[in-house]
Amino acid sequence: MKFIGAHVSASNGVSQAPINAHAIGADAFALFTRNPSRWTSKPISDKEAEAFKENCAKYGYTPSQILPHDSYLINLGAPEAEKLEKSREAFLDEMQRCEQLGLTLLNFHPGSHLKMMPVDDCLDLIAASINITLEKTSGVKAVIENTAGQGSNLGYSFEQIAHIIDKVEDKTRVGVCIDSCHAFAAGYDLSTIDGYADTWRRFDEIIGFQYLSGMHLNDTKKGLASKVDRHETLGNGVLGADFFSFLMNDPRMDNIPLILETPDESIWAQEIAWLKSLIK
Ligand SMILES: [Zn+2]
Ligand SMILES: [Zn+2]
Repeated sequence: MKFIGAHVSASNGVSQAPINAHAIGADAFALFTRNPSRWTSKPISDKEAEAFKENCAKYGYTPSQILPHDSYLINLGAPEAEKLEKSREAFLDEMQRCEQLGLTLLNFHPGSHLKMMPVDDCLDLIAASINITLEKTSGVKAVIENTAGQGSNLGYSFEQIAHIIDKVEDKTRVGVCIDSCHAFAAGYDLSTIDGYADTWRRFDEIIGFQYLSGMHLNDTKKGLASKVDRHETLGNGVLGADFFSFLMNDPRMDNIPLILETPDESIWAQEIAWLKSLIK
């Protein structure tokens, strides 16, 4: 089955996220468990964590349908020691929040070299950061998101993601989230049936489908290989409607969270219904 949802608001507490997801007819959702643009965030109270679990149970969301996203400030490959330390502390807090909420996935952007270190060294540093965090936690998978390759952001090629996974000690606790906008912007042409088949063939060869733990479903405003990350409403961008039809009928994306991060949240319910209507 396809678990389709969106990155919903948790600004009034994490317990509101499953309510917000249910309201748009979602079978999956993403959320921030802390303020994504601040370094510190107050702890989640036991009462709030309990309310989150109760609401998830009430609306039928199991951990495999929930893909929390970490803070944008975190750079697990930061070249400067102080920034790296801060990032590792925040990432550990993110993962501990997932443990507290009974969640099993944590989606994050790999990191950026900021033109201060070689690409391979930065990828090694990201893997080391993951290893440190996994050692101190249990039950939560670190889910690496592919990027558009904007600026010095790494993780835009399948090879770079495979490089990180290769250096992660516990392979059972690492996964991948493919964002369709980012993949297209990074040069993977998912818009045609041949490009779609070829992209996923390469994904399987280089990374392996066993690591695919979720997807972000976004159309894109910018062209193939533009390396610019600009999400667009489904079907209105240069990726186009066909891609979403290919994906909805591809069993390799069954039973993982498929999350909209499209710009107009007032039509998320319609976008979800449209995606479901594509299933043949
Ligand atoms: Zn994304
Ligand atoms: Zn993006």
